[in-house]
Amino acid sequence: MEITSVCPYCGKEMRDGAIPVLRDIYWCPRGEDGMLKDGFGDEKEQVWLGRAGLFGGDTPARYCESCKAVIIPVSEIEWPLDKLDKKFTAWQEKISAQREERKAQREEEKREEKSRKRREKDPWEV
Ligand SMILES: [Zn+2]
Repeated sequence: MEITSVCPYCGKEMRDGAIPVLRDIYWCPRGEDGMLKDGFGDEKEQVWLGRAGLFGGDTPARYCESCKAVIIPVSEIEWPLDKLDKKFTAWQEKISAQREERKAQREEEKREEKSRKRREKDPWEV
Protein backbone atom coordinates (compact mmCIF):
# COMPACT_ATOMS: atom_id res chain seq x y z
CA MET A 1 0.00 0.00 0.00
CA GLU A 2 1.32 3.39 -0.89
CA ILE A 3 1.58 5.72 2.04
CA THR A 4 0.04 9.09 1.26
CA SER A 5 -1.11 12.04 3.32
CA VAL A 6 -4.74 11.04 2.68
CA CYS A 7 -6.60 9.53 5.61
CA PRO A 8 -7.48 5.88 4.83
CA TYR A 9 -10.76 6.22 6.78
CA CYS A 10 -12.35 9.45 5.57
CA GLY A 11 -10.15 10.37 2.62
CA LYS A 12 -9.33 13.82 3.92
CA GLU A 13 -5.88 15.34 4.01
CA MET A 14 -3.96 14.43 7.16
CA ARG A 15 -1.72 16.78 9.05
CA ASP A 16 1.98 16.08 8.83
CA GLY A 17 3.83 15.77 12.10
CA ALA A 18 5.81 13.48 14.33
CA ILE A 19 5.75 11.70 17.65
CA PRO A 20 8.62 12.71 19.91
CA VAL A 21 10.53 9.66 21.04
CA LEU A 22 11.31 10.14 24.71
CA ARG A 23 11.37 6.44 25.42
CA ASP A 24 11.13 3.32 23.28
CA ILE A 25 7.78 3.02 21.57
CA TYR A 26 6.58 -0.04 19.74
CA TRP A 27 3.48 -1.85 18.69
CA CYS A 28 2.90 -5.39 19.90
CA PRO A 29 0.02 -7.84 19.47
CA ARG A 30 -2.44 -8.75 22.18
CA GLY A 31 -2.52 -12.44 23.08
CA GLU A 32 -5.62 -14.57 23.46
CA ASP A 33 -5.43 -14.00 27.21
CA GLY A 34 -5.80 -10.27 26.62
CA MET A 35 -2.25 -9.56 27.70
CA LEU A 36 0.17 -7.64 25.54
CA LYS A 37 2.80 -9.89 24.08
CA ASP A 38 5.71 -7.63 24.79
CA GLY A 39 7.90 -9.96 26.83
CA PHE A 40 11.47 -10.56 25.88
CA GLY A 41 10.56 -13.93 24.41
CA ASP A 42 8.12 -12.29 22.03
CA GLU A 43 10.45 -9.50 21.07
CA LYS A 44 10.28 -10.52 17.43
CA GLU A 45 6.61 -9.57 17.44
CA GLN A 46 7.39 -6.03 18.41
CA VAL A 47 7.12 -3.39 15.73
CA TRP A 48 9.47 -0.61 16.60
CA LEU A 49 8.09 2.88 16.11
CA GLY A 50 10.82 4.76 17.88
CA ARG A 51 13.84 4.01 19.94
CA ALA A 52 15.00 6.36 22.62
CA GLY A 53 18.52 6.73 23.85
CA LEU A 54 21.45 7.03 21.50
CA PHE A 55 19.36 7.75 18.45
CA GLY A 56 16.42 9.47 20.05
CA GLY A 57 14.43 11.87 17.95
CA ASP A 58 11.00 11.61 16.48
CA THR A 59 8.85 9.26 14.49
CA PRO A 60 7.09 10.76 11.47
CA ALA A 61 3.34 10.40 11.79
CA ARG A 62 0.20 11.90 10.28
CA TYR A 63 -2.90 12.94 12.10
CA CYS A 64 -6.47 13.09 10.84
CA GLU A 65 -8.40 15.71 12.75
CA SER A 66 -11.84 14.42 11.75
CA CYS A 67 -11.14 10.74 12.56
CA LYS A 68 -8.91 11.47 15.54
CA ALA A 69 -6.49 8.90 14.23
CA VAL A 70 -2.73 8.91 13.94
CA ILE A 71 -1.06 6.91 11.21
CA ILE A 72 2.53 5.83 11.66
CA PRO A 73 4.10 4.50 8.48
CA VAL A 74 6.50 1.92 9.88
CA SER A 75 7.93 0.89 6.55
CA GLU A 76 9.28 4.38 5.92
CA ILE A 77 11.58 4.13 8.86
CA GLU A 78 14.95 2.47 9.00
CA TRP A 79 16.45 2.77 12.41
CA PRO A 80 20.12 3.46 12.86
CA LEU A 81 20.15 0.57 15.33
CA ASP A 82 18.77 -1.79 12.70
CA LYS A 83 21.39 -0.59 10.28
CA LEU A 84 23.98 -1.35 12.93
CA ASP A 85 22.39 -4.74 13.52
CA LYS A 86 22.56 -5.50 9.82
CA LYS A 87 26.19 -4.41 9.70
CA PHE A 88 26.94 -6.52 12.73
CA THR A 89 25.16 -9.55 11.27
CA ALA A 90 26.99 -9.16 7.96
CA TRP A 91 30.24 -8.88 9.85
CA GLN A 92 29.45 -11.98 11.90
CA GLU A 93 28.60 -13.90 8.75
CA LYS A 94 31.88 -12.83 7.20
CA ILE A 95 33.80 -13.92 10.27
CA SER A 96 32.14 -17.32 10.44
CA ALA A 97 32.65 -17.82 6.69
CA GLN A 98 36.33 -17.09 7.15
CA ARG A 99 36.43 -19.46 10.09
CA GLU A 100 34.79 -22.21 8.02
CA GLU A 101 37.27 -21.59 5.25
CA ARG A 102 40.18 -21.86 7.63
CA LYS A 103 38.74 -25.03 9.13
CA ALA A 104 38.34 -26.58 5.67
CA GLN A 105 41.90 -25.54 4.87
CA ARG A 106 43.20 -27.12 8.06
CA GLU A 107 41.34 -30.36 7.33
CA GLU A 108 42.78 -30.36 3.83
CA GLU A 109 46.26 -29.95 5.31
CA LYS A 110 45.62 -32.77 7.75
CA ARG A 111 44.51 -35.04 4.92
CA GLU A 112 47.62 -34.18 2.94
CA GLU A 113 49.76 -34.78 5.99
CA LYS A 114 48.16 -38.20 6.45
CA SER A 115 48.62 -39.27 2.85
CA ARG A 116 52.19 -37.97 2.92
CA LYS A 117 52.89 -40.06 6.02
CA ARG A 118 51.28 -43.05 4.36
CA ARG A 119 53.51 -42.56 1.33
CA GLU A 120 56.60 -42.22 3.52
CA LYS A 121 55.76 -45.33 5.45
CA ASP A 122 58.00 -48.29 4.89
CA PRO A 123 56.11 -50.39 2.31
CA TRP A 124 57.28 -53.57 4.10
CA GLU A 125 55.88 -52.49 7.38
CA VAL A 126 52.44 -53.95 8.01
ZN1 LIG B 1 -9.89 10.72 8.58
